[in-house]
Amino acid sequence: MLQPYTETELRDAQKNDIDLSTLIAWLSTDFSPSKQDLQMSSPFVRHLWQSKSQLEFRNSILYYFWDDAVAPRLLFITPRKLRQEMLHLCHDLHSAVHLGQDKTLAKLRLTVNWYGMTMDCKLYVSTCQICNRYKKTSEESQSRIENSLEDAHYIARENLKSTQKRLKQDYDLNLNFRKYCVGDIVLKLDTARKVGISPKLKAPWKGPYVVIEVKSPVLLKIKYRKREEVVHHDRLKLCIDKEIPLWLQRLRNDILGRVENKLEQNTNMDLEDLYLDILFSNENQNNQNDLNSLSESLTDGCNNDDPLFVSDSLTIGSKNERIILKSLHSLVDVPRNLDATFVYELSQNSPLPNHDDKNRDTCTLDNGSRRGQTGRRKKQMPSYLHDYVQ
Ligand SMILES: [Zn+2]
Repeated sequence: MLQPYTETELRDAQKNDIDLSTLIAWLSTDFSPSKQDLQMSSPFVRHLWQSKSQLEFRNSILYYFWDDAVAPRLLFITPRKLRQEMLHLCHDLHSAVHLGQDKTLAKLRLTVNWYGMTMDCKLYVSTCQICNRYKKTSEESQSRIENSLEDAHYIARENLKSTQKRLKQDYDLNLNFRKYCVGDIVLKLDTARKVGISPKLKAPWKGPYVVIEVKSPVLLKIKYRKREEVVHHDRLKLCIDKEIPLWLQRLRNDILGRVENKLEQNTNMDLEDLYLDILFSNENQNNQNDLNSLSESLTDGCNNDDPLFVSDSLTIGSKNERIILKSLHSLVDVPRNLDATFVYELSQNSPLPNHDDKNRDTCTLDNGSRRGQTGRRKKQMPSYLHDYVQ
């Protein structure tokens, strides 16, 4: 059980203190110490003497007046022998619960004051045996928080991975993958809502559309009359209506025809145009020479080291010569991403087309075989050659 100090005990303790006794003597006798006296005294005395306006006696006990804006109060100027007890009371008691340095210091400042109280309090708390056994340092708690956060992130990442895998499995189970081609007639899922119309009463499928381009295995470009849009294949289904609108049939035929022409043009058109240019733009007597010179230039001008222009010649029978051009990039403006192998047959002894012939729109390049008859498509003479042909 703590016994409170009496005023006499406190007064005696101050008078017996080596520093406070000097100060009390100066203050009680109105002695004015010289500069040398102050220099010879302790820092505690000098500090109190400089703030002597805040010192006052109550029942012969020296106090320090703390002019606090909220709670002005008198602080007991503590002699040396009572300081450890004050620290013990403010830190070690069950009511003090071994608070930290700042809270212990705040509790001390409510009642007592001495020079160097802050440093003494920090030293006392930091060397407290119980605090050092039970309390964790800030570094430990910080590292513990960091570790727990890393663990939480790891668990979250693992859960995300497993969730993604499960969602993909569920999606793949219900996936009804259908490969659409250009020209397919499809219906599009219409998720747009209109104000005043319940989505339950609205037809979910809209169309029909026609597929005009396959951008990727899942993305398709579709067209409805003049409007084009890119949609995911999940939002499409094949249209199996009995009656297809006439405009859609025409659009589909147009697209399919364009695709077919494009495929043929990519393989044959460029080289044929090159030969047609020569055949129709020169005189009859020069045509043979030009054709020969072109074929010679193709075979002679090739560089075997150049992978872009490689040619080979095979003699089939005695009349026909087949020239195999593996690349024509240096001759005609062919996109590099096309098939780099081109096979073209030409005959040096083939009869050249007569300009007066009614069938001059079909180019005869093989001996005895008309490309217009054997091929899938009749070769039309380019319109820009009409000016040269009488
Ligand atoms: Zn403690």
